[in-house]
Amino acid sequence: MATSTHCPYCALQCGMRLTAGNDGAGAVSVTPREFPTNRGGLCHKGWTSAAVLSTPDRLLRPLVRDADGSLVKTTWDEAYTRIVRGVKRARARSGPDGVAVFGGGGLTNEKAYTLGKFARVGLGTAMIDYNGRFCMSSAAAAGGRTLGLDRGMPFPLGDLDGADAVMLVGSNPAETMPPFVQHLRSARERGGLIVIDPRRTPSAALTDDGAGVHLQPLPGTDITVLMGLLHLVIVGGGADERYLADRVTGWDAVKRSAMMWWPEAVERETGIPVDELRCAAKILMKSAPVVGGHGAYVLTGRGAEQHAHGTDTVSAALNLALALGLPGRVGSGYGCLTGQGNGQGGREHGQKCDQLPGYRKITDPAARAHIAEVWGVEESDIPGPGLPAVQLLDALGTPEGASMLFVHGANPVVSGPRSGRIAERFAALDTLVVTDFVLSETAAMADVVLPSLQWAEEEGTMTNLEGRVLRRRRAVPAPDAADGPRDELRIWHELAELLDAPAGFATDPADAFDELARASAGGIADYSGLSHAALDAWELADDEGGTGAFWPAVRDAMTRPDPRTVGTPRLFLDRFATPDGRARMIDVRSAGVADDLRPDAPLYLLTGRLLQHYQSGAQTRRVAELNGIEPEAFVQIHPLTAARLGIGEGDDVEVRTRSGAAVGVARLSNDIRRDCVFMPFHFAGRGAANLATNPALDPVSSMPEFKVCAAAVARFDEQ
Ligand code: SF4
Repeated sequence: MATSTHCPYCALQCGMRLTAGNDGAGAVSVTPREFPTNRGGLCHKGWTSAAVLSTPDRLLRPLVRDADGSLVKTTWDEAYTRIVRGVKRARARSGPDGVAVFGGGGLTNEKAYTLGKFARVGLGTAMIDYNGRFCMSSAAAAGGRTLGLDRGMPFPLGDLDGADAVMLVGSNPAETMPPFVQHLRSARERGGLIVIDPRRTPSAALTDDGAGVHLQPLPGTDITVLMGLLHLVIVGGGADERYLADRVTGWDAVKRSAMMWWPEAVERETGIPVDELRCAAKILMKSAPVVGGHGAYVLTGRGAEQHAHGTDTVSAALNLALALGLPGRVGSGYGCLTGQGNGQGGREHGQKCDQLPGYRKITDPAARAHIAEVWGVEESDIPGPGLPAVQLLDALGTPEGASMLFVHGANPVVSGPRSGRIAERFAALDTLVVTDFVLSETAAMADVVLPSLQWAEEEGTMTNLEGRVLRRRRAVPAPDAADGPRDELRIWHELAELLDAPAGFATDPADAFDELARASAGGIADYSGLSHAALDAWELADDEGGTGAFWPAVRDAMTRPDPRTVGTPRLFLDRFATPDGRARMIDVRSAGVADDLRPDAPLYLLTGRLLQHYQSGAQTRRVAELNGIEPEAFVQIHPLTAARLGIGEGDDVEVRTRSGAAVGVARLSNDIRRDCVFMPFHFAGRGAANLATNPALDPVSSMPEFKVCAAAVARFDEQ
């Protein structure tokens, strides 16, 4: 019995088939299937993804904290009673905003939508935000202000296949989503892969042997690098002046700013040799459509975005792409490589503190009226805006903050910035409710733990990094259906009834999707032409090569869909989504890192992901095959730096910053600059890299500066 579905992990959402025993249970096997993003490939995480379904520590019953402080099994009724009492206490203390909600970018679209509704009309709180604030928010903000809307890649991934050049800015897909690499083949064969990264990552190594160029800048100087490239494009005659005149505003100011960044000045600031910068600029110029090239793409990732100036960094990348005339043209463009499985959909349906479904602004009266009508409530019943994630979490348990928190699809005790502070705030709560399928580090701190279904046990949809809406299908039954784990849609429905919510909550994912589609109608991310049945038909028409559907998928335009091009695969071909149809260049300035080097913190701590793990590692650390390869935190350090500090391969190393300290095993490598160390952020306990990361925020997106902060590094046994 095989079921076609998608990988539970990253935003590539590779197509796979799950085969269970004849009774629908027993060992589940994974096989890849043809899908436009992965074309029959899977990474190690995808191949082993079924292992989590049978993890021995799966939560099968609700848990509540008893008088001794231990988590003990209980009934759903008792768990709900504790939750309702907690809500009443929090409301009595601080009003409706005394309860807060923290969601996740891995939740299905149906759940992301319903969680936003549950928070606002089930709990009546404005205090909802989600972990995507830590992931994509800078690219989303930059895309919104320049292009008029944010869809990670506004073109199908397959469009990369014919490009002469692809520039990756702070992205490492060769490690984080390996099947993606097949889409870089043509750029590599033509010597056109450009990677900007302070580390020589597996993606940077793809530029070897004439396949392209790796620019290895000082951390926090990406804006300068991008301004320097723009300078060379201008002086080299590579700017597409006709395109700029027809389709862009703000060019004169941006051009003036870029002209100040001579290559020699860029080298001084960033450490990138002039000839390498020139080489990258030349690749871009000869690939651009204005000179008859086969096209070029500029793609950003978290390395560029998770900074105190992340939004401006993405704007600088967009300025470069626009100067070359790339966005809104077939075969060229700008895109952002989303990380979380539903990082795109998760930010479209109302989990963000400032947004309503359809990617609408919560402060827009027309948006509020539309959503109130869909929900069957008064406009005044929709509170908000609330606080973005870092501020929301930081205020918990204080007189100004919420005293009760619901967490769904997230593990912020490991994945949040300055995670020690987050754990401290959670400990100060009156009631912490966590819904998960295992006892994550966050669930272990909860007063009430509700066991949920896993990916292969539920129905729903996900929206991948291209804005492609996909079906997640049930392949195995939920364990112990009567008293065991429950779908979150059912949990919110039951809690909303107990709390006398003024609106109803769908429990069937297909119904929740239909409501989401109605709510999204007329919004930026319009799903009104989609349904579970239609998505099934389009993706599985021949079960090999079906496509899913791209938003916007407007109902009136969907009457005769072409299964190969459902919805809107390519955006901006005629106009950008701004009021005047033109892209708005933003005149940004170079900026350093929020927490820069000083004598007692002379190295930069960089953080990132590994091939074997996903996000906080709550799932992948439970897969023996993956954890056997990467079982613990490590500190990558240059051999010369290590020698200077008396650190040897395999030593325990402490990385201490203003936020806190994390410990990992030393891995000596020439792949990192001498002024940096790197830690993966997937591990818990003393190895949690986020104990040390900087909570400084981007002023536009509220993205924390995960990617860099000043650190002291020493052998741990010397402490
Ligand atoms: Fe594909 Fe990402 Fe899953 Fe790997 S983790 S199989 S790249 S979706």
